[in-house]
Amino acid sequence: MRGTPYNKGNILRQLLDAKFKQVGDPGQCHAVAIDGRAPAYDGGIVSRVDSVPLGIVVNNEGKRFFDEGEDFWPKRYAIWGRLIAAQPDQIGYAITDAKADGLFMPTVLPALKSTTIDDLARQIDIPADSLLKTINEFNSAIVSGSFDHQALDGCLTEGLPINKSHWARQIDTPPYSAYPLRPGITFTYLGVAVDDRARVQVERGNPSENIFAAGEMMAGNILGRGYLAGIGMTIGIVFGRIAGREAARHAS
Ligand SMILES: Cc1cc2nc3c(=O)[nH]c(=O)nc-3n(C[C@H](O)[C@H](O)[C@H](O)COP(=O)(O)OP(=O)(O)OC[C@H]3O[C@@H](n4cnc5c(N)ncnc54)[C@H](O)[C@@H]3O)c2cc1C
Repeated sequence: MRGTPYNKGNILRQLLDAKFKQVGDPGQCHAVAIDGRAPAYDGGIVSRVDSVPLGIVVNNEGKRFFDEGEDFWPKRYAIWGRLIAAQPDQIGYAITDAKADGLFMPTVLPALKSTTIDDLARQIDIPADSLLKTINEFNSAIVSGSFDHQALDGCLTEGLPINKSHWARQIDTPPYSAYPLRPGITFTYLGVAVDDRARVQVERGNPSENIFAAGEMMAGNILGRGYLAGIGMTIGIVFGRIAGREAARHAS
């Protein structure tokens, strides 16, 4: 849980139980890859791992499971928590080499480092032969391009069961780095339906005249799938202002 432990969804539960209209896909959420060593609550932004697009991510069997370079990181970071949650033991490992150092915001905890892949695998307790095989296959599948981590560059892999679409570079320059990754949930997309005055909708009939919702509990009105950096605060601010104005209008 990336934020406060006090957000337990109690108010949302009460509204849904009282037959206010539900919105959003309960299976979708904003969840990032956080450092597996972070605290269970309130780890904050400094525990988010941003090295993913610059290397590969493997599960505890040493296998890749998703395209790490599918799109720009601000458009993709919020899906990685869900991807990791679907892996064995809900853990993953972001692996990079020295070429990636300095190109991403480091977490508050230093990466695990080693001069050999063998030793790095031992440190994160995954099968070294499997990790080596994954890296060798990945390195061999790279179609060379002109690396540019600030553009959708032409560095990709071909012929792998899961290819990497951008920023694919050989993992060959020690020291190698690993971050253990855990799913860090920010908020789910399950919420109450609101109208453009932030009034909470009932399942049947007119919207509530005196109950207004803003922020995460109504984010599912805006977010269907995926995420774009900044939308969380935007939903809170825009609908917070509307809900406040409407509540004041109702009270006056
Ligand atoms: C680590 C982290 C990084 C983030 N980074 C970004 C970012 O870079 N950009 C972005 O746009 N968004 C970001 N977000 C998301 C964004 O912060 C949230 O979407 C936004 O703050 C939600 O606003 P809110 O008002 O809905 O909820 P909150 O700000 O969580 O406010 C809800 C309040 O209600 C209180 N509360 C809960 N239950 C009860 C109760 N029963 N009775 C009384 N009070 C209660 C809680 O204590 C809390 O103070 C981040 C979130 C986290 C956790």
